[in-house]
Amino acid sequence: MKMNIPAMLEYQASDQIIYKAEQAFAGSVENRRYAAVQAKIAELRQAVIKMDKDALEARREIEKRETQCAEITSELQEGLEIGDEQELSEVKRHEDMLREYETTVDRIEKDVNKFLRRLEEIEHEVKIALQQMKKCTAELESSKAVLANKRTEMQNELKEEVMKRRAIQQKLDPKELEIYKKVRKENIRLPILVEYSDGVCRACGMHVEHDLHGKLKESGDIAECPNCRRILYLK
Ligand SMILES: [Zn+2]
Repeated sequence: MKMNIPAMLEYQASDQIIYKAEQAFAGSVENRRYAAVQAKIAELRQAVIKMDKDALEARREIEKRETQCAEITSELQEGLEIGDEQELSEVKRHEDMLREYETTVDRIEKDVNKFLRRLEEIEHEVKIALQQMKKCTAELESSKAVLANKRTEMQNELKEEVMKRRAIQQKLDPKELEIYKKVRKENIRLPILVEYSDGVCRACGMHVEHDLHGKLKESGDIAECPNCRRILYLK
């Protein structure tokens, strides 16, 4: 495959200036701050969802124990109605039943208290998380505005270069540009159109002569670097 290398290199030189500015913008303090606040909000949202689930679970546990308590109370009442209170063995049986009932109720109450405390804790945690979320949302708004300013600033600075790139683009073969743009989309660091000489890709430094199977013979020939996937050309 062939390509008009000088024209594409001219395009790439302009594209690279724009690319560098875009990279600088992506890595800027302002952009990182915005991304960090966004991540924090997502994290808080997840935490609140988890706490809501925990609270629901605690309430269910309490309900379960309340039902259990009601059941053993009615069982006790039924048990106490049977038998003659005058008989000594019956008195003893009732006393045993009461003792067992009290022990069980105590244990259930302890459990319920444990879940009530957990509910209180969750409530407190949710309150804190919501406060943080409010703070983060305000922060997000302000960092968004800062970022928008920075973007406008960058776009103004690049205006001329973008026009230049567009002008060069009009002289190019659309098919050749398509090949370039396809690689550009893959987030491969520029330059993506690189010279192939002495069997080596000048971008990644790999010896690729063998893998290319003689694809690059004449000046203007292109092939994909089997290692870094950039477009290799023969000068
Ligand atoms: Zn390479």
